[in-house]
Amino acid sequence: MDLIAIFPELADHARTATRLHPRPGVPEEMHSSVGGRLLWPPDEVWPVCLEQHDGYDFRRPDDERLRRRVLMDGWSRTMPGQNLQLTEQERADLDRADRNLVVGEELPPLPMMAVAQLFARDVPDLACPEGTDLLQVLWCPIDHEAGSPRVFLRWRRSADVVDVLADQPEPPLMESNYYLPEPCLLHPEQVVEYQYADLLPERLRERIEEWEEATEHDYQDLSIAEGWKAGGWASWHLTDPYPMMCECGQDMRLLLTVASNEWSAGYTWRPIEDEPTGTEPSYPRTREPTMITIGRGYSLWIFICPRSFEHPHQTIMQ
Ligand SMILES: [Zn+2]
Ligand SMILES: [Zn+2]
Repeated sequence: MDLIAIFPELADHARTATRLHPRPGVPEEMHSSVGGRLLWPPDEVWPVCLEQHDGYDFRRPDDERLRRRVLMDGWSRTMPGQNLQLTEQERADLDRADRNLVVGEELPPLPMMAVAQLFARDVPDLACPEGTDLLQVLWCPIDHEAGSPRVFLRWRRSADVVDVLADQPEPPLMESNYYLPEPCLLHPEQVVEYQYADLLPERLRERIEEWEEATEHDYQDLSIAEGWKAGGWASWHLTDPYPMMCECGQDMRLLLTVASNEWSAGYTWRPIEDEPTGTEPSYPRTREPTMITIGRGYSLWIFICPRSFEHPHQTIMQ
């Protein structure tokens, strides 16, 4: 829907975002990806999380990979209406993969987990410091502040990386099996978004509310894209808008959204390519290609300071 044709004043509140459209694939170091190998030089130290890690139940990444493989195989041979078809061996594998590990003692510093890498050539709305063209996102898959992973960002100039670190570390344990990204290739698409309604000027907001009542359209659903994206606006649908301020006093800007779902029940943001054909397996669900879940199906927003890439980023879960 062309919102700007209905509300020309929205032009002052428009921003582009690049939807990343992750879909399962086999990414290599030169691809923009989620859950793929990173273009990381062998002589650069892999980031480690030095925070205190005291949790109770942990999962192993390899157990989670086994669990997903068993479920994918099982669901792929399960006919519609049937219960999940598993062999005895698969049931045993699933039991093994589903175990929680109780870690009594304090954990040593954990290597960060590779989550995504985005090349500026693929993602027009990617914010990059001068001279760099690649953003690499890693996280410590333990619930740190407010129940979400601790994010680490690394920008670099891809041409500087001649050799790639062969054996890329990963943390031996995760707080949630949903913090392990499934390898996905990206299919970026630029869209225009409009600012969250509560942050618009009052008169415009009132006109939008009247239009919503008259037409039964939902501005919130139409104005801000769902799913993984770079740039664009944040949608404060869980809480009221919360000021994201840098330590320097500057309003921060949304860098990246890590989403649990590519679209929600309204299907507004479901790509034409992902319309169901009736032949896709029930696992994993098409709208959950990365198999990451943040909180109860929320998104993790990563904000940066527009004044300097040196200022620390902030994250918030919504
Ligand atoms: Zn940590
Ligand atoms: Zn700042």
